[in-house]
Amino acid sequence: MSEQTVPPCPASLPQRRSDANKGSCGRVLLIGGSRGMAGSISLSAVAALRSGSGLVSAAVPDAILETVAGFHPGVMTIPLADNQTTGTFAATAQLPDLSAYDAIGIGPGMQTGTGSVRLITAILSQTQLPRVIDADGLNVIAAQNLLAADPQDATVDQQRTLILTPHPGELARLTGIPATDRAAQIDAAQRLATQHGLTVVVKGGPTVIVTPQQAGRSTNPTGNPGMATAGSGDVLTGVITSLLGQGMPTEAAAKLGVYLHGLAGDFAARKHGQASMICTDLLDSLSQSIQASE
Ligand code: AMP
Ligand code: MG
Repeated sequence: MSEQTVPPCPASLPQRRSDANKGSCGRVLLIGGSRGMAGSISLSAVAALRSGSGLVSAAVPDAILETVAGFHPGVMTIPLADNQTTGTFAATAQLPDLSAYDAIGIGPGMQTGTGSVRLITAILSQTQLPRVIDADGLNVIAAQNLLAADPQDATVDQQRTLILTPHPGELARLTGIPATDRAAQIDAAQRLATQHGLTVVVKGGPTVIVTPQQAGRSTNPTGNPGMATAGSGDVLTGVITSLLGQGMPTEAAAKLGVYLHGLAGDFAARKHGQASMICTDLLDSLSQSIQASE
């Protein structure tokens, strides 16, 4: 695959104005991580930087703050209260002041304890900012049944700016449909999207983006099985959050984010081979993917 023969791009990349400054290019907040899984939220944060965000902050359990800060010098860090025994968010952990952000990504590596439940509940109910919920954030929603069966109109409005990014195991927990039945999983994701007015990125080979209107559903043309590697999905969370923070509408950000992430995977596979490519290669290839899509 040459850069001239990439599959058609589903949406235009956000344009950078000539008078842009880092505050105007999207201020994003990534929330997650725990002791033993500091890399996940770090990957999301660097992916957001690579996808064009001007300012990226990672809110993490205090126990892993230095680790996340050391991962990349461009990422700012915010310590949240932690449970010192487990290195996870404490029940007393509070969301930072969200008025400073344009988009939020939450979930990678956060575990599913009481602190995570409090944070996810707050993210679902206290803001209408564009949000991506991934990984343990989805497991919390499933375990606590946080998406009410019959949402109020006001709740649906709030969920129009929400993107869920489950892999087949997470989608099984959310919907009760086993990962082995992909067609039924996509149908269940469609019901979830329609009922709640949200967007579901059904990850896999290929990834299907499900929107509230069934007609908006699309299948992503990029990506390869080499992307079945640790940290791959954490990169996707950062890419989509970044596009949301740059002002893209919810569904377009989901589709373009999945496309760019898959294309980065295709470039990484060409360079390293599918078996050898790893999550940091996806980060490195994002710039090629973005250049090919401009
Ligand atoms: P996660 O399981 O959260 O790390 O996410 C894995 C990422 O890799 C998702 O974006 C998947 O769509 C992608 N991926 C995994 N397996 C494949 C595959 N066989 N073909 C294409 N993409 C894949
Ligand atoms: Mg994941």
